[in-house]
This record gives sequence, C-alpha cells and structure tokens, in this order.
Amino acid sequence: MLGTVLYGPRDVRCEDIPEPQIVEPTDAIIRLSASCVCGSDLWPYRGANEVTAPMHMGHEYCGVVLEVGSAVTTVKPGQFVVGSFCISDNTCPHCRFGFQSSCEQRTFMSGAQASIARVPLADGTLVATPEMPSEDLIPSLLATSDVLGTGWYAADAARVQPGSTVAVVGDGAVGLMGVLAAKQMGATRIIAMSRHKQRQELAEEYGATDIVAERGDEGVARIKALTKNIGADSVLECVGTNESMQQAIHCTRPGGMIGYVGVPHGVTFDGQSLFFSQTGMLGGPAPVRRFLPHLINLVMRRQINPGKVFDFEVPLKDVAEGYKAMDERRAIKTLLRV
Ligand SMILES: [Zn+2]
Repeated sequence: MLGTVLYGPRDVRCEDIPEPQIVEPTDAIIRLSASCVCGSDLWPYRGANEVTAPMHMGHEYCGVVLEVGSAVTTVKPGQFVVGSFCISDNTCPHCRFGFQSSCEQRTFMSGAQASIARVPLADGTLVATPEMPSEDLIPSLLATSDVLGTGWYAADAARVQPGSTVAVVGDGAVGLMGVLAAKQMGATRIIAMSRHKQRQELAEEYGATDIVAERGDEGVARIKALTKNIGADSVLECVGTNESMQQAIHCTRPGGMIGYVGVPHGVTFDGQSLFFSQTGMLGGPAPVRRFLPHLINLVMRRQINPGKVFDFEVPLKDVAEGYKAMDERRAIKTLLRV
C-alpha cells in the first residue's frame, strides 16, 4: 500500500510500505477515507524537530473498519469511525476526567497518511458514526480528528461562554477552527488576528466579528482598543511561538483565561509578569476524544462545516506537494485523497 515517510528536513515521500496488521487484541485496522497534513507535521518537516529515523507520518484519520482484534467490543468491521490523534483507553482516571490526551496508556497516532492504518486501543480511541456518512461530509469528519478538536479544546480551555469576548491568536487551520468553536459556544465578539486576506475571509465566515492584522505590541493595543481597554475574556493561542504566547497573555483581561494549543517552540515565561497579569492558562494536546461524539453529531447534522479549512487537495502519491504548499503558506491545510 501507499504510505508517507519523512526522511529528513523537506524530504517527505510517498512509498510502497507494508500493510499494517493487528498486533494487539485491542487494535483495529481501518481503510482511510481521506487523510491530511497537520501544521504540527511541519515542525519535523522544517527540521525544527530532529528526524533520527524515517518517520511514518499522519495522525488525523477517519475511515471504515476493516478488521478488529479479539478484545475490541465497541466498533466492528464495516463501520465508519473517527479517532483522536491521541490514543487512549478512555477508562483510566485521566480519561474519566476528560483528559484523554494524558491517558495513562497514551501514545500518539502515526502512519495515517496512508491508505490503511492501525489504531491501537480501538475501544477507547474510535467513535463510530450512526450511519455511513455521505461523501461530501468526509473532509468535515476528518477535521474533527484533530484540527477541529484542537480548536474546540482551545475555546473550551479558555472557558468561552455565551456572551464572551474572544481573541484568537493565529490564523492557521487550528485558529480558524477556534473561531468556529467560539461561535458555537455562544461568544458574541470574536476577534481573529490575521494578516492574510483569504484566512480573514474564512475567519469571518466561521464567525469572527473583528479582524486585527497587527502583531506584537501593536496587536495588543488594537485588542485593547476594541475591548474598552479591558482585554478579552478568553484568548485562544493557536501558534506556539514566544511572540504569539506573549501576545495572548497581554490580550487577556485580568481573570480571563488562555487556552493554548500551539505546540510551544521557544516559549518562555517571566514569573512576575505572569503573576501580575492574573490570567489563567490551560492547554496542551487536545483531549479530542472527549469532544468527538458532539463534534461528529454537529457535522452529521450539517450544523458546522469545518471541512472548508481544507483549501488544497492532492492525491496521496503527491503528498510532498501537499507539505510544500503548507510550508510555503500557499495552503491553509492539505487534504490527501487516498
Ligand atoms: Zn486513559
């Protein structure tokens, strides 16, 4: 079968690799309906994370179950399933608190930029749809697996509520999904920080009420000006750089919350400025499994259209072009047709 292997910086290839097999009785094997490239895949692709051995890429997935191990009880062959990028048992204490991304048995999904994938801990990781979805819903269902689930978590962690004023730092796919999530949670004011026209337009379509193109101190000043010098109730940090994190902290009103989901690279905190900012912070890898049933339901009822975030599409064999387009910011997010 075809699968995606990263060999080193900017060296990603689609190759013929062995089909995955059931290894543990808790595994499932699924045929992918579509796959995609994640913003976080760009960290090793750009060499920001060292690649010490060829990596089988891909952790966002949905598709049809082909085979399950003898211990799997909640999904069966023929069902359409979506899973989280974090593998979880959904039974340990952390899972039961809703933090499946810190599961005692957590591992990270890999090998999903392929035609067939193995999903460990299938019972705790996969959610089946009530019926086979129509073809046009596949991109949106794929989005729930990570990018929407992560944007949703950012909004949830930032405690977005009906009537909230929200600022979203980052106009990548996750930031745009954060806008969608804040809208669904009832925020009345959603300020998207973006400098790119096409992304600004999509943010507005997803519910942004204001756009701030400035960054750094100027960006903070604009947010303050838009909020009567108070700051936002909830700030979603969806980038992971020191600049974006500082921007998030300084845009939040005292007593407000920051949901941070950009994987930090070079982020540092000054204790005193954090102390006097009086802002709360919750972030980390999104516990997508907690949100999956609700998000799948919203997609199946066509109440949201997160799949629109895929603005570039290539067949799996051209995966290298898919990475390149995202790396050069020609694409917000690449869908891979398998
Ligand atoms: Zn667990």
